[in-house]
Amino acid sequence: MKIDLSGTTAVVTGSTGGIGFAIAKGLASAGASVVVNGRGQEKADAAAAAIIKAVPGASARGVGADVSTADGCAKLVATVSSADILINNAGIFEPKAFFDIPDADWMRFFEVNVMSGVRLSRAYMSGMLKRNWGRIVFISSESALNIPSEMIHYGMSKTAQLAVSRGLAELTKGTGVTVNSVLPGPTMSEGVEVFVKDLAKQNGQSVEEAASQFVKQHRGTSLIQRFATVDEIANMVVYVSSREAAVTNGAALRAEGGIIQTIA
Ligand code: NAD
Repeated sequence: MKIDLSGTTAVVTGSTGGIGFAIAKGLASAGASVVVNGRGQEKADAAAAAIIKAVPGASARGVGADVSTADGCAKLVATVSSADILINNAGIFEPKAFFDIPDADWMRFFEVNVMSGVRLSRAYMSGMLKRNWGRIVFISSESALNIPSEMIHYGMSKTAQLAVSRGLAELTKGTGVTVNSVLPGPTMSEGVEVFVKDLAKQNGQSVEEAASQFVKQHRGTSLIQRFATVDEIANMVVYVSSREAAVTNGAALRAEGGIIQTIA
């Protein structure tokens, strides 16, 4: 199978680094014209330039907009009025004991992880339906199904994404538009690397030892027994964004190394 997305425009939120950057690069490699997004314009431009450098003939542009706010989403939509592919990737996580999580954090997690995708889907999906083709992918998490006791607010936001994604898929009946979510497990993105480096420092371990211990201790059922790479997650997202994935709609697709011990 050769995935060809030439002629399409893809918006990937939170794509100056981590999984989002790998997705933007993957989509650009498949021929999509990608919009790289981060909070600052300079970083977004630099990430777009890095994609153009890495992928011969790639089309990429940066748009600085904080998609955790209504104004930020409006800024992105004002700059890029139409998208064929929308990847709702921007998201935050922070381990915190339930009794220490204030209301403001619950609201912040909902704004960044859920409302960004809601607002941008509202803006871009009607154009997809009119043109009778489009792809929306929510980057959720294995934590949507196995709610982590050390960050229940994060789990809540990731489960909410599945509900929004499935609900939006219902609106695509009989069209060429699909809406799906992808559930990564522990993935070595820049954000997670900082977290693992902190763990290593606290425990007097190397980063590799800390990563391996984290998987064994906190995600013991993992079949791969390691962190995924950002490119391994991007591969699944590029596929589900492709024309070839036309019959995958309304699905919650796992890319989590088998942590979740159920068949369906
Ligand atoms: P990361 O922190 O490494 O990168 C996130 C990117 O989003 C950065 O480029 C950051 O600048 C950008 N960003 C953050 N807030 C933003 C905002 N308000 N507006 C615009 N851009 C913003 O994150 P990651 O680990 O690559 O995670 C990406 C997504 O994958 C998240 O939704 C996360 O919940 C999900 N996920 C990650 C893992 C993992 O282990 N890394 C596992 C499961 C799910």
